[in-house]
Parts: sequence; C-alpha cells; structure tokens
Amino acid sequence: MHILLMGPPGAGKGTQAAKLVEEFGIPHISTGDMFRAAVKEGTPLGRQAKEFMDAGQLVPDSVTIGIVKERLAKPDCQEGFILDGFPRTTEQAEALDRTLQELGIRLDRVINIIVPDSELVSRMTGRRICRGCGATYHVKFNPPRTGSICDKCRGELYQRDDDREETVTKRLAVYQAQTRPLIEYYQDKGLYTEIDGQQDIDKVMSDIVASLKGKER
Ligand code: ADP
Ligand code: AMP
Repeated sequence: MHILLMGPPGAGKGTQAAKLVEEFGIPHISTGDMFRAAVKEGTPLGRQAKEFMDAGQLVPDSVTIGIVKERLAKPDCQEGFILDGFPRTTEQAEALDRTLQELGIRLDRVINIIVPDSELVSRMTGRRICRGCGATYHVKFNPPRTGSICDKCRGELYQRDDDREETVTKRLAVYQAQTRPLIEYYQDKGLYTEIDGQQDIDKVMSDIVASLKGKER
C-alpha cells in the first residue's frame, strides 16, 4: 500500500506513521526525519538543511526532491510506503508523480490529517523526541511513563530547535502558503481523504485504517 500522509506541521503525521508501520509493515519515509538525521551526522546536506529548518522555512526543492527520489528507488518501496512530510510544494508533487511513474508505483491514498492552528501550536511546542529511537511524545497529550525518558529505548527526550513558538508560527504560515494548495492537487486526482486529527491518537489511527481498508485497490 502506497500512502501519502499530509497535514500541517504538528497534525500527528509522524505519530500515525509509526502506528501504520506496525499495522502494515511498510517503510516510513519522512523527509523531516531524513534531514534531522543528516544534521545529527553533520553531513553537507545536514548543514545546508539546518539553516532552513531553524528559520522555519522549507529546504529547497532541488535538494529535497533528490533525496526522496533516491529513497523511493530502494527495493523496499515497491511493496508500499508511508510518505510523511513530502511533497510540500507543487514542484515536489509533480516530481513525485514523475518518479512514481518511472518506478511503476501508483499512490493508493492521500490522507490529510486536519487540526486547527491553535491546537497545532500547543502540539508542536509540547512535542518531545527521543534522541535514541526518534519516538515522538507530548508533555501533556502523550507523555512518557517516566520523566524525560523514552518508554521504548530509555533514550533521553529533547525539544526540536524548530518547535519553539516563534519558529512554529513561521512554519504554519509556510504551510498555508506553500503546502495547503496541494489539497486541491490531490482532490483533482480523486485520491484524497480527510481525517479528523483532533481525536485521541488511537481513534485517529482507527479512522485512517478504516479508510484505507475500505477503499484499498
Ligand atoms: P507531525 O509529524 O505531523 O509534525 P507529530 O506526530 O510529531 O506531528 O505530532 C505533533 C505532536 O502532537 C507530538 O507531540 C504528538 O505526541 C502530539 N500528538 C499527535 N497526535 C495527537 C493527537 N491525536 N492528540 C494529541 N496530541 C497528539
Ligand atoms: P517535519 O519533521 O516534517 O516537521 O519537517 C521539519 C523541517 O524539515 C521543515 O520545517 C522543513 O524545514 C524541512 N522539511 C521537511 N520536509 C520537507 C520538504 N518536503 N520540503 C522542504 N523542506 C522540508
């Protein structure tokens, strides 16, 4: 199953993707995670991406499209994938169409997780990530069992640099200007479904699964 997870930053894409990986056993491809890994490793890509990420802006299409093309060409993507955080611009969406066509892959569904802006700010400012395994928590809505320690790997939890309030506001504006127009792009293709992201995490997941199973091709 080839799924595209859309939605504004903080909507719960990464949280749901982790659950979909367990449910369907397909790879989770998150451009945000790929950039954060490159930043952590201190690669040239990481240094370039960090500048844009810290400013709440998008990494240029030329860079982003290249890394996604490379990842999608790996054999594990033939069976399926959950693409999270890509595409974010029309140019990226068009590049994705071309790449999938070259690979003989057809998207099954585009799922958009809907959450209002006021809630997104609380979600992002309270988000915490595990340094070890990358698991996502929230100080109020999805806290770890003990202090700032990951339930899964006992790793330390940290706050992303771009989850501070000033940057969060900028990221929401960037979403409205550059990414939101993609809703129409996918509506026109007849692949688009909206899910209410303001429900609890398990209910959002069960709605996504019901939607995928109901209309699987
Ligand atoms: P995205 O990948 O879309 O940016 P995340 O999955 O990282 O979003 O979720 C953003 C924050 O909101 C995280 O701290 C996460 O724990 C929390 N969160 C995710 N889904 C929900 C939900 N349904 N209700 C409340 N908080 C949620
Ligand atoms: P995310 O983890 O999806 O919230 O992404 C974090 C940051 O990485 C974004 O604010 C962007 O700076 C960058 N990024 C992630 N995905 C993309 C993309 N598809 N295009 C451009 N920049 C991206």
